[in-house]
Amino acid sequence: MTSLRIWHPFTQAALDPSPLPVARGEGAYLILEDGRRIVDAVSSWWVNLHGHGHPRIAAAIAEQAKKLEHVILAGFTHDKAEELAQRLRKWVPGDLTHLFFSDDGSTAVEVALKLAVQYWSNLGRPEKREIAALEHGYHGDTAGAMSVSDDSPFTEPFGSMRFPVHRVHSAYCHRCPLGLERATCHIECTESLAKLLADRGEQIAAVIVEPLLQGAGGMIVHPIEFLQKVRALCTKHDVLLIADEVLTGFGRTGKMFACDQAGIAPDLMCLSKGLTGGFLPMGVTLCTARVEAAFRSHDPRNTFFHGHSYTGNPLACAAACASLQLFEDEPVFERIAAIAKIHAERLARLREAGAVGETRQIGTVAAIELGADDAGYLSGLRPRLYRYFLERSVLLRPLGNVVYVLPPYVIPPDELHRVYDVIGQAIETLL
Ligand code: PLP
Repeated sequence: MTSLRIWHPFTQAALDPSPLPVARGEGAYLILEDGRRIVDAVSSWWVNLHGHGHPRIAAAIAEQAKKLEHVILAGFTHDKAEELAQRLRKWVPGDLTHLFFSDDGSTAVEVALKLAVQYWSNLGRPEKREIAALEHGYHGDTAGAMSVSDDSPFTEPFGSMRFPVHRVHSAYCHRCPLGLERATCHIECTESLAKLLADRGEQIAAVIVEPLLQGAGGMIVHPIEFLQKVRALCTKHDVLLIADEVLTGFGRTGKMFACDQAGIAPDLMCLSKGLTGGFLPMGVTLCTARVEAAFRSHDPRNTFFHGHSYTGNPLACAAACASLQLFEDEPVFERIAAIAKIHAERLARLREAGAVGETRQIGTVAAIELGADDAGYLSGLRPRLYRYFLERSVLLRPLGNVVYVLPPYVIPPDELHRVYDVIGQAIETLL
């Protein structure tokens, strides 16, 4: 009998070496079966916050498993789901009063898009169903999330599965879509959204953004004013604003949520990744009372008919509650500030290297855009850099010619410095 083999995401079976077997995780480290310790400088696809194997989160999951592993959430509830809702309420912007569970970042986005479209339909305005999204955006791999994501190698084969979306400028200052300089511009890049909403606001249900930081599109950091202007435009034209905080949530940008940095509140917010501290998959979509009210109806057709089997899973809720408790019991924001300081110091030094086009930073996320003739996700630099880093026991996964560092908050400062030493050597050696 032939064996059943795992199909690993993002790997080219013809080219890539065999996957590395990980025996366990500890803090910022992955320990391989052969004993090698690899520093996880990407938080295992941006999910881990407080370190691998944090005993408090592990214990919370084990405790919960002994009580209730899962229950249908339609018509039932459980104490960990209720506790999580109350805990999140303390952190999220005040206008967000309702929470809908799903499974991951992509499904949290699907829920937000569907809620936005049905919201207007329930209000008797079914023509208001179009979506606007940003250039360079990435919102996940399911069909709706791919539709609102910008064109990329991730979406290219699936054109026929994507619904049409209005694409407007993002604030990619290093490659400004209008050829302006940040020092003297007035965030004119929002004018394409302003024009769209002025022309078609009556048909547009929602604008979706990754607030302040576009992740998979190249770790592009936006000026705060960009997000503030997008919020103001949505309000002016009565269009819902969806903030996809799947990556930016839970302290990554220096505050609990990126929206907090800009002092704005969205109408819908998507969370996942760090929600459970990186232990279990779970997504949530939060919305305002105004949005939820449109679904309170005696007409069954106004019901939101969406629900995944593992919606509100008690084990994931227990992990999320324990992770949020760690924000209160451990010096999480001090750790975040310490990482941000090291990023700033080391990026300033790296900027002097000739091959570095731009460095970007927001909170615990740092990016180094390298000059390359084949800039973009499929840049030939990517596999060479990846291998170079791994040979030195550093897990970094460049987005094409953009190297980024996004560590768990517990990374020891000297280890973070070593990550930068290795990046510096790679730039000297490979470019
Ligand atoms: N939204 C953003 C901003 C993301 O960065 C991602 C994943 O990287 C997603 C959505 C999709 O999340 P998931 O991979 O959990 O489906």
